[in-house]
Amino acid sequence: MWRLWQTTRKKKLENNPNHAPKGSSKGGQFTKGDGGSGSDDDKDDKKTVVSKGAGYDDWKKKLTDWHDERDKKRNAQKNKDTDIIPSTEIPEELRPSGKNYRVEAEKARLRDKNTSETEFIDTYKDRLRPEQIKGISAQIEQYKKDLDNVEINDKKLDLPNIPMKANTHTKNTDGFIHDKSKITIQKAVKENPGTKLMSDRVKSAWNNLPDEHRNLVDNLVIKQSRAVKSRTYNGGSWNRDTKTLTLNLNSRSQDLIEHNFYHEIGHARYSDMKLKNPEKIEAFGKKVKELGISPTNYSQSYRNAERDNDESERNYRRKMKAGGFTINVLAEEILEKNRRNAKDLYENEAHSELNSYVLGNLPKRKVFASPESMKKLLNAYKELHELWVSHQCLN
Ligand SMILES: [Zn+2]
Repeated sequence: MWRLWQTTRKKKLENNPNHAPKGSSKGGQFTKGDGGSGSDDDKDDKKTVVSKGAGYDDWKKKLTDWHDERDKKRNAQKNKDTDIIPSTEIPEELRPSGKNYRVEAEKARLRDKNTSETEFIDTYKDRLRPEQIKGISAQIEQYKKDLDNVEINDKKLDLPNIPMKANTHTKNTDGFIHDKSKITIQKAVKENPGTKLMSDRVKSAWNNLPDEHRNLVDNLVIKQSRAVKSRTYNGGSWNRDTKTLTLNLNSRSQDLIEHNFYHEIGHARYSDMKLKNPEKIEAFGKKVKELGISPTNYSQSYRNAERDNDESERNYRRKMKAGGFTINVLAEEILEKNRRNAKDLYENEAHSELNSYVLGNLPKRKVFASPESMKKLLNAYKELHELWVSHQCLN
C-alpha cells in the first residue's frame, strides 16, 4: 500500500549502463572489483576541455570560490578550525533554497547528475560499449539543456511558488548529509558501478532536502533489488513505526528513483503531521476530497480506497460467516488497521505526489490534474506545511 507505482515500462538497453548482458548470470555489466580505468592522460585532457554548460559552470565557479575563500580563512587561522567540510560537499549557502524551492532543487539535481555521469564515463570508458557511452553522453547533453531551461519551464506552468525551510546539516556518511539519521547503503550498491550511479541520484535528492525532511527519517536504507523481472517490484517504502525509508534500486526504476524517494518522504511528512497536528491533516484531506482530483493517475487510483476497502471487508465477513468460521482477534486487528489506512489513503497518496512536485521532481507528463486543480492542490499543501513567503520583508 505504501508503494509507488509498479514499473512495467521496459528500459531501452542502450540507455542503461546497468543491464545484464544477454546470457549473463552475473546481473550486470560489472563484477566485483572490476573497475577498469582509462589512462590518466586521457582523463586530464577531457577535464580541461569539456564544458558542462553555462548553467553548470557558473555554479561550479561559485562552489570553487567558496572553497578557496574557506581555505584562505582557515590558513589565516592557522588551521585551528574544527568545522571541516570536505571539498566534495556543497556549503549551506549554495544548496537549494529560496522562494520557489522546486526550481532550485531541480537545478541542483541536474548539476549533480551531470557530475556523477561524467565521472562514470570517465572511470569506466574501457568497460562500456560505445553505444552505452553514446547513450549516457546524450543524457548529459540533455541535462545541460534542461539546466538552462528550468526557470523558463516552471514559469510557463504558472503555478504557485513554494518555499522550503533551511538545509544546514554537515555530518555525513558516504556523502549523505544528516543529523541523527542512520544511513545504510548495502555493500552491493557501492560495489556495482551502475547501481552506484543510481544511489548517487538518491544522494543528490537526499542532500537537497531541507533539514526538517531528513530529520523525519531515523533510518535510510538503500538496497539493490533483485526483482528485475517481477511485476510487483516496489521502488520504495516508508515504515511509520520504525521511521525507516527503504529504497530498492533497480535498473527498471532508474528514471523514477528520485520521484520514488520524494514520494516516500511525502509519506514520512504526512504521518508525522497526522501525529502532531491531526486537525491540519483533516483540513487538508477535506480539501483534496472535495476537489476529487489529485496530482497523478497513480494517486487518483486511490480515489475510492475507502469504499473499496469497505467492500472487501464486507465480502470477507460474508465468506467467513457462510463457511461457519469465526474471525479471530488478529484478523480483526488487521481489518481495523486496513480501515484506518483506507480512510485517508487518497489524501495521503495525493500528498506524497505533491511533495515530489514541490521538491522539484514530478515530471509534467505524469501530472493528471489540470493547472487550475494543481494550483488548488499546491495551495492546500502550502497551507498544511505553513510554507508562506513572508510579505512584510518584501516591502
Ligand atoms: Zn505512496
